[in-house]
Amino acid sequence: MHELSLIQSLLDIVDEYAARHRFEKVNCLQLSFGCMSCIDPKSLEFAFDVQSKGTKAEGARLEFDIRPAVIYCFSCEQEHEQQHYSGDCPQCGGRQVTLTGGTEELKLVEMDVD
Ligand SMILES: [Zn+2]
Repeated sequence: MHELSLIQSLLDIVDEYAARHRFEKVNCLQLSFGCMSCIDPKSLEFAFDVQSKGTKAEGARLEFDIRPAVIYCFSCEQEHEQQHYSGDCPQCGGRQVTLTGGTEELKLVEMDVD
């Protein structure tokens, strides 16, 4: 489960931020990642619950902004968003497509703190 190491690096960022900005606790963490990045939100939440114990982020709410897959189709010469990447173009059915979005790694977008 690579969510454990993702959450660990996230908590490291929170720690570093807390040292610089001196807040008491984290209320909410806004995270974003691509739907093709093999990250499971449920596993993330579980890992966060376990690993945030005793840190300033304990009890914080997680919000996910999951980016859709975006493909570029060489036949239509256009980009299309897809919730589920199927390997072909949703518009013309062409198979000459390349993935241009949806593989974004986990990113901390915003942090609400007290
Ligand atoms: Zn197409």
